[in-house]
Amino acid sequence: MPRRISRTEFLEARQAQRLDLAAAKADPVFRQKVEAAGLSLDELDKLDLYERDGRLEGPRELRALFDLLKGLERGGAADTLTVKPLGWSFGPVERALDALDGRFEASAGSGPLPALTEAGRARLPLSAAVGRGAPNRSDDVRLVQSRLKDVGFEVGVDGQFGPRTEQALKTYRAMLTGADETNEVSGRVDPDDLLHHALASSEPPRWERMPKSGPGFVNEDTDGFGFGAAETRAAIEEIGAAYERDYLASHPDAARLSVNDVSERHGGDTRDHQTHENGLDVDLRLPRSDGGSGSDVRWANYDREATWAMLQAIASNPRVERVLFSDATLLARATDTKQPWAHKLFDGGPVHKNHLHLDIRPPAVTPQ
Ligand SMILES: [Zn+2]
Repeated sequence: MPRRISRTEFLEARQAQRLDLAAAKADPVFRQKVEAAGLSLDELDKLDLYERDGRLEGPRELRALFDLLKGLERGGAADTLTVKPLGWSFGPVERALDALDGRFEASAGSGPLPALTEAGRARLPLSAAVGRGAPNRSDDVRLVQSRLKDVGFEVGVDGQFGPRTEQALKTYRAMLTGADETNEVSGRVDPDDLLHHALASSEPPRWERMPKSGPGFVNEDTDGFGFGAAETRAAIEEIGAAYERDYLASHPDAARLSVNDVSERHGGDTRDHQTHENGLDVDLRLPRSDGGSGSDVRWANYDREATWAMLQAIASNPRVERVLFSDATLLARATDTKQPWAHKLFDGGPVHKNHLHLDIRPPAVTPQ
Protein backbone atom coordinates (compact mmCIF):
# COMPACT_ATOMS: atom_id res chain seq x y z
CA MET A 1 0.00 0.00 0.00
CA PRO A 2 1.27 3.50 -0.79
CA ARG A 3 2.11 5.43 2.34
CA ARG A 4 1.16 9.03 2.85
CA ILE A 5 3.60 11.42 4.46
CA SER A 6 2.23 14.76 5.55
CA ARG A 7 4.26 17.94 5.31
CA THR A 8 4.34 18.08 9.13
CA GLU A 9 5.74 14.54 9.36
CA PHE A 10 8.33 15.33 6.72
CA LEU A 11 9.45 18.48 8.52
CA GLU A 12 9.58 16.76 11.89
CA ALA A 13 11.63 13.88 10.54
CA ARG A 14 14.20 16.22 9.00
CA GLN A 15 14.18 19.07 11.46
CA ALA A 16 17.55 18.46 13.10
CA GLN A 17 19.19 17.49 9.83
CA ARG A 18 20.88 19.21 6.97
CA LEU A 19 21.96 18.31 3.46
CA ASP A 20 25.32 19.60 2.31
CA LEU A 21 24.77 20.25 -1.38
CA ALA A 22 28.41 20.44 -2.48
CA ALA A 23 29.28 17.16 -0.75
CA ALA A 24 26.19 15.44 -2.13
CA LYS A 25 26.78 16.68 -5.67
CA ALA A 26 30.40 15.46 -5.58
CA ASP A 27 29.00 11.94 -5.30
CA PRO A 28 28.21 10.44 -8.73
CA VAL A 29 25.64 8.02 -7.25
CA PHE A 30 23.71 10.94 -5.76
CA ARG A 31 23.78 12.82 -9.05
CA GLN A 32 22.61 9.79 -10.95
CA LYS A 33 19.70 9.16 -8.56
CA VAL A 34 18.63 12.80 -8.55
CA GLU A 35 18.65 12.92 -12.33
CA ALA A 36 16.76 9.62 -12.53
CA ALA A 37 14.06 11.25 -10.39
CA GLY A 38 13.69 13.95 -13.04
CA LEU A 39 15.35 16.65 -10.92
CA SER A 40 18.22 18.82 -11.98
CA LEU A 41 20.95 19.78 -9.52
CA ASP A 42 20.11 23.42 -10.23
CA GLU A 43 16.67 22.83 -8.80
CA LEU A 44 18.22 21.67 -5.54
CA ASP A 45 20.45 24.76 -5.46
CA LYS A 46 17.37 26.93 -5.69
CA LEU A 47 16.07 25.44 -2.44
CA ASP A 48 19.01 26.97 -0.58
CA LEU A 49 16.76 29.96 -0.12
CA TYR A 50 18.02 31.90 2.81
CA GLU A 51 21.62 32.00 3.87
CA ARG A 52 22.99 30.74 0.55
CA ASP A 53 25.31 28.58 2.60
CA GLY A 54 25.32 25.49 0.39
CA ARG A 55 23.11 23.56 2.81
CA LEU A 56 19.46 22.65 2.98
CA GLU A 57 18.27 22.96 6.56
CA GLY A 58 15.65 24.66 8.67
CA PRO A 59 11.87 24.49 8.28
CA ARG A 60 11.61 26.90 5.37
CA GLU A 61 14.17 25.18 3.16
CA LEU A 62 12.84 21.74 4.08
CA ARG A 63 9.36 22.90 3.24
CA ALA A 64 10.62 24.02 -0.17
CA LEU A 65 12.17 20.56 -0.60
CA PHE A 66 8.85 18.96 0.30
CA ASP A 67 7.10 21.17 -2.26
CA LEU A 68 9.66 20.20 -4.90
CA LEU A 69 9.07 16.51 -4.20
CA LYS A 70 5.36 17.22 -4.27
CA GLY A 71 5.87 18.68 -7.72
CA LEU A 72 7.19 15.29 -8.89
CA GLU A 73 3.94 13.65 -7.90
CA ARG A 74 0.78 13.86 -9.91
CA GLY A 75 -2.54 14.40 -8.24
CA GLY A 76 -1.85 13.63 -4.56
CA ALA A 77 -3.46 15.55 -1.72
CA ALA A 78 -2.06 19.05 -1.51
CA ASP A 79 -0.14 18.65 1.73
CA THR A 80 0.90 15.03 1.61
CA LEU A 81 3.40 12.98 -0.36
CA THR A 82 2.32 9.55 -1.46
CA VAL A 83 5.29 7.23 -1.18
CA LYS A 84 4.83 3.92 -2.94
CA PRO A 85 6.51 0.66 -1.96
CA LEU A 86 9.84 -0.02 -3.64
CA GLY A 87 9.79 -2.29 -6.66
CA TRP A 88 8.25 -2.06 -10.10
CA SER A 89 6.28 1.06 -9.15
CA PHE A 90 9.42 2.91 -8.08
CA GLY A 91 8.42 6.45 -9.12
CA PRO A 92 10.13 9.84 -9.14
CA VAL A 93 9.30 10.69 -5.52
CA GLU A 94 10.77 7.41 -4.25
CA ARG A 95 13.85 7.89 -6.44
CA ALA A 96 14.38 11.40 -5.13
CA LEU A 97 13.91 10.32 -1.51
CA ASP A 98 16.29 7.43 -2.11
CA ALA A 99 18.92 9.87 -3.35
CA LEU A 100 18.37 12.26 -0.45
CA ASP A 101 18.20 9.67 2.32
CA GLY A 102 21.52 8.90 3.88
CA ARG A 103 22.88 12.26 2.66
CA PHE A 104 21.50 14.20 5.60
CA GLU A 105 23.70 14.82 8.59
CA ALA A 106 22.99 16.37 11.97
CA SER A 107 22.51 20.11 11.71
CA ALA A 108 25.12 22.22 13.42
CA GLY A 109 23.64 23.89 16.47
CA SER A 110 20.32 22.12 16.25
CA GLY A 111 21.09 19.47 18.84
CA PRO A 112 19.22 19.46 22.12
CA LEU A 113 19.67 22.58 24.20
CA PRO A 114 21.49 22.21 27.52
CA ALA A 115 19.50 22.09 30.74
CA LEU A 116 18.65 25.54 32.07
CA THR A 117 21.09 27.02 34.55
CA GLU A 118 19.97 27.80 38.12
CA ALA A 119 19.43 31.43 37.14
CA GLY A 120 17.35 30.51 34.08
CA ARG A 121 15.31 28.00 36.05
CA ALA A 122 14.67 30.56 38.76
CA ARG A 123 13.02 32.83 36.17
CA LEU A 124 10.68 30.05 35.03
CA PRO A 125 10.70 27.20 37.57
CA LEU A 126 8.53 24.64 35.77
CA SER A 127 7.88 21.39 37.59
CA ALA A 128 6.50 19.68 34.46
CA ALA A 129 5.39 20.31 30.87
CA VAL A 130 2.58 22.68 29.91
CA GLY A 131 0.57 22.06 26.76
CA ARG A 132 -1.71 19.58 25.09
CA GLY A 133 -1.39 16.18 26.81
CA ALA A 134 0.92 17.62 29.46
CA PRO A 135 0.37 17.51 33.25
CA ASN A 136 -0.60 21.22 33.17
CA ARG A 137 -0.21 21.77 36.90
CA SER A 138 -1.90 25.04 37.56
CA ASP A 139 1.20 26.67 39.10
CA ASP A 140 3.17 25.78 35.96
CA VAL A 141 0.42 26.99 33.63
CA ARG A 142 0.23 30.24 35.55
CA LEU A 143 4.01 30.75 35.28
CA VAL A 144 3.95 30.12 31.53
CA GLN A 145 0.93 32.41 31.02
CA SER A 146 2.59 35.13 33.00
CA ARG A 147 5.76 34.90 30.88
CA LEU A 148 3.72 34.79 27.65
CA LYS A 149 2.06 37.98 28.80
CA ASP A 150 5.44 39.55 29.57
CA VAL A 151 6.69 38.78 26.05
CA GLY A 152 3.62 40.38 24.47
CA PHE A 153 0.79 37.87 24.15
CA GLU A 154 -2.71 38.61 25.36
CA VAL A 155 -3.40 35.65 27.62
CA GLY A 156 -5.19 35.45 30.95
CA VAL A 157 -3.08 34.29 33.92
CA ASP A 158 -5.61 31.86 35.38
CA GLY A 159 -3.67 28.60 35.64
CA GLN A 160 -5.98 26.91 33.10
CA PHE A 161 -4.44 25.59 29.89
CA GLY A 162 -6.84 26.59 27.10
CA PRO A 163 -6.91 27.50 23.41
CA ARG A 164 -5.60 31.05 23.92
CA THR A 165 -2.54 29.81 25.79
CA GLU A 166 -1.99 27.03 23.27
CA GLN A 167 -2.17 29.45 20.33
CA ALA A 168 0.30 31.82 22.00
CA LEU A 169 2.74 28.92 22.52
CA LYS A 170 2.33 27.80 18.89
CA THR A 171 2.82 31.31 17.56
CA TYR A 172 5.85 31.82 19.79
CA ARG A 173 7.43 28.53 18.69
CA ALA A 174 6.76 29.30 15.01
CA MET A 175 8.34 32.72 15.50
CA LEU A 176 11.44 31.17 17.10
CA THR A 177 11.88 28.44 14.48
CA GLY A 178 10.68 30.29 11.37
CA ALA A 179 7.95 27.70 10.74
CA ASP A 180 5.44 29.27 8.34
CA GLU A 181 2.35 27.64 9.80
CA THR A 182 1.58 27.66 13.51
CA ASN A 183 -0.46 24.48 13.12
CA GLU A 184 2.74 22.70 12.08
CA VAL A 185 4.43 23.25 15.43
CA SER A 186 3.80 22.09 18.97
CA GLY A 187 1.99 24.36 21.42
CA ARG A 188 3.67 22.80 24.39
CA VAL A 189 6.58 23.81 26.57
CA ASP A 190 8.65 20.99 28.06
CA PRO A 191 11.26 21.57 30.76
CA ASP A 192 14.59 22.59 29.14
CA ASP A 193 13.19 22.80 25.60
CA LEU A 194 13.46 25.74 23.20
CA LEU A 195 10.36 27.50 24.55
CA HIS A 196 11.47 27.04 28.13
CA HIS A 197 14.84 28.64 27.33
CA ALA A 198 13.18 31.49 25.42
CA LEU A 199 10.51 32.20 28.05
CA ALA A 200 13.07 31.98 30.89
CA SER A 201 15.40 34.40 29.16
CA SER A 202 16.38 37.66 30.80
CA GLU A 203 15.90 39.16 27.33
CA PRO A 204 13.20 37.01 25.74
CA PRO A 205 12.25 37.32 22.05
CA ARG A 206 9.14 39.47 22.00
CA TRP A 207 5.78 39.65 20.21
CA GLU A 208 4.89 43.28 19.60
CA ARG A 209 2.49 45.72 18.05
CA MET A 210 3.99 47.07 14.84
CA PRO A 211 4.75 50.81 14.77
CA LYS A 212 2.25 53.18 13.13
CA SER A 213 4.89 55.26 11.40
CA GLY A 214 8.50 56.34 11.58
CA PRO A 215 11.24 57.79 9.36
CA GLY A 216 10.61 56.63 5.79
CA PHE A 217 7.55 54.47 6.47
CA VAL A 218 3.89 54.49 7.40
CA ASN A 219 1.84 51.52 8.54
CA GLU A 220 -1.42 51.47 6.57
CA ASP A 221 -2.78 48.20 7.89
CA THR A 222 -6.44 48.57 8.83
CA ASP A 223 -7.61 44.98 9.20
CA GLY A 224 -5.83 43.74 12.31
CA PHE A 225 -2.53 42.51 10.91
CA GLY A 226 -0.46 44.79 13.08
CA PHE A 227 1.48 42.34 15.28
CA GLY A 228 4.72 40.45 14.93
CA ALA A 229 8.20 39.72 16.20
CA ALA A 230 10.28 42.51 17.70
CA GLU A 231 12.80 41.68 14.95
CA THR A 232 10.14 42.52 12.35
CA ARG A 233 9.47 45.85 14.03
CA ALA A 234 13.22 46.59 14.05
CA ALA A 235 13.52 45.58 10.38
CA ILE A 236 10.68 47.93 9.37
CA GLU A 237 12.27 50.81 11.28
CA GLU A 238 15.77 50.18 9.90
CA ILE A 239 14.53 49.78 6.33
CA GLY A 240 12.45 52.96 6.63
CA ALA A 241 15.43 54.91 7.96
CA ALA A 242 17.71 53.65 5.16
CA TYR A 243 15.13 54.47 2.48
CA GLU A 244 14.63 57.93 3.97
CA ARG A 245 18.38 58.61 4.06
CA ASP A 246 19.26 57.13 0.66
CA TYR A 247 16.23 58.13 -1.42
CA LEU A 248 13.52 60.25 0.22
CA ALA A 249 16.04 62.87 1.31
CA SER A 250 16.79 63.56 -2.37
CA HIS A 251 13.25 62.69 -3.66
CA PRO A 252 10.95 64.34 -1.09
CA ASP A 253 7.82 63.81 -3.23
CA ALA A 254 8.26 60.05 -3.51
CA ALA A 255 6.04 57.66 -1.59
CA ARG A 256 7.05 56.42 1.83
CA LEU A 257 7.25 52.70 2.48
CA SER A 258 3.71 51.49 3.07
CA VAL A 259 3.56 48.60 5.52
CA ASN A 260 0.42 46.59 5.15
CA ASP A 261 -0.01 43.17 6.73
CA VAL A 262 2.22 41.46 9.30
CA SER A 263 0.30 39.05 11.62
CA GLU A 264 -2.88 39.11 13.70
CA ARG A 265 -3.03 39.77 17.46
CA HIS A 266 -2.34 36.16 18.43
CA GLY A 267 -0.64 35.10 15.19
CA GLY A 268 -1.83 31.84 13.69
CA ASP A 269 -3.91 30.77 10.75
CA THR A 270 -5.58 33.46 8.67
CA ARG A 271 -7.99 33.47 5.79
CA ASP A 272 -6.22 36.36 4.06
CA HIS A 273 -2.79 34.80 3.61
CA GLN A 274 -1.07 31.48 3.19
CA THR A 275 1.64 32.61 5.61
CA HIS A 276 1.72 35.72 7.87
CA GLU A 277 1.20 33.48 10.93
CA ASN A 278 4.46 33.77 12.85
CA GLY A 279 5.09 37.52 12.92
CA LEU A 280 7.98 37.25 10.47
CA ASP A 281 6.15 38.12 7.23
CA VAL A 282 5.61 41.69 6.05
CA ASP A 283 3.70 43.00 3.04
CA LEU A 284 4.52 46.40 1.55
CA ARG A 285 2.23 48.14 -0.91
CA LEU A 286 3.83 49.50 -4.07
CA PRO A 287 4.60 53.21 -4.46
CA ARG A 288 2.73 55.41 -6.94
CA SER A 289 4.23 58.26 -8.90
CA ASP A 290 1.83 60.70 -7.15
CA GLY A 291 3.56 59.94 -3.83
CA GLY A 292 0.80 57.64 -2.56
CA SER A 293 0.86 53.90 -2.15
CA GLY A 294 -1.11 51.03 -3.65
CA SER A 295 -0.09 50.22 -7.20
CA ASP A 296 0.69 47.28 -9.43
CA VAL A 297 3.73 46.64 -11.62
CA ARG A 298 1.39 46.72 -14.66
CA TRP A 299 -0.16 50.11 -13.86
CA ALA A 300 0.88 53.46 -15.34
CA ASN A 301 1.17 55.09 -11.90
CA TYR A 302 3.67 52.49 -10.61
CA ASP A 303 6.85 54.25 -9.40
CA ARG A 304 9.55 51.81 -10.44
CA GLU A 305 12.50 53.93 -9.32
CA ALA A 306 11.11 54.40 -5.82
CA THR A 307 10.51 50.65 -5.71
CA TRP A 308 14.12 50.04 -6.72
CA ALA A 309 15.28 52.28 -3.85
CA MET A 310 12.96 50.38 -1.49
CA LEU A 311 14.33 47.06 -2.68
CA GLN A 312 17.86 48.23 -1.94
CA ALA A 313 16.90 49.30 1.59
CA ILE A 314 14.98 46.07 2.16
CA ALA A 315 17.26 43.41 0.70
CA SER A 316 20.49 44.87 2.06
CA ASN A 317 19.05 44.67 5.57
CA PRO A 318 20.55 41.61 7.31
CA ARG A 319 17.25 40.84 9.08
CA VAL A 320 15.59 40.19 5.71
CA GLU A 321 15.97 36.63 4.46
CA ARG A 322 13.86 36.71 1.32
CA VAL A 323 11.79 39.09 -0.80
CA LEU A 324 8.96 37.89 -3.05
CA PHE A 325 8.11 40.27 -5.85
CA SER A 326 7.07 40.10 -9.49
CA ASP A 327 8.60 43.00 -11.39
CA ALA A 328 10.69 41.21 -14.01
CA THR A 329 12.48 44.47 -14.88
CA LEU A 330 13.76 45.02 -11.35
CA LEU A 331 14.52 41.34 -10.76
CA ALA A 332 16.71 41.42 -13.88
CA ARG A 333 18.28 44.72 -12.86
CA ALA A 334 19.31 43.31 -9.47
CA THR A 335 21.07 40.39 -11.17
CA ASP A 336 22.55 42.39 -14.05
CA THR A 337 24.01 45.04 -11.76
CA LYS A 338 25.34 42.26 -9.48
CA GLN A 339 23.74 43.56 -6.30
CA PRO A 340 25.17 41.66 -3.32
CA TRP A 341 21.61 41.00 -2.15
CA ALA A 342 20.22 39.81 -5.52
CA HIS A 343 20.01 36.22 -4.23
CA LYS A 344 17.34 37.27 -1.72
CA LEU A 345 14.90 38.28 -4.47
CA PHE A 346 12.44 35.71 -5.77
CA ASP A 347 9.79 36.01 -8.42
CA GLY A 348 6.62 35.69 -6.38
CA GLY A 349 4.35 35.00 -9.35
CA PRO A 350 1.04 36.73 -10.14
CA VAL A 351 0.01 37.34 -6.50
CA HIS A 352 3.08 39.52 -5.90
CA LYS A 353 2.51 42.04 -8.67
CA ASN A 354 0.88 44.54 -6.30
CA HIS A 355 3.05 44.16 -3.21
CA LEU A 356 6.44 43.13 -1.86
CA HIS A 357 6.52 40.26 0.61
CA LEU A 358 9.40 40.08 3.11
CA ASP A 359 10.51 37.13 5.23
CA ILE A 360 12.32 38.21 8.39
CA ARG A 361 14.98 36.04 10.05
CA PRO A 362 13.71 34.41 13.25
CA PRO A 363 15.12 35.74 16.54
CA ALA A 364 17.96 33.76 18.13
CA VAL A 365 17.35 31.94 21.41
CA THR A 366 20.25 32.18 23.84
CA PRO A 367 20.48 29.16 26.15
CA GLN A 368 19.70 30.27 29.70
ZN1 LIG B 1 2.76 38.44 2.18
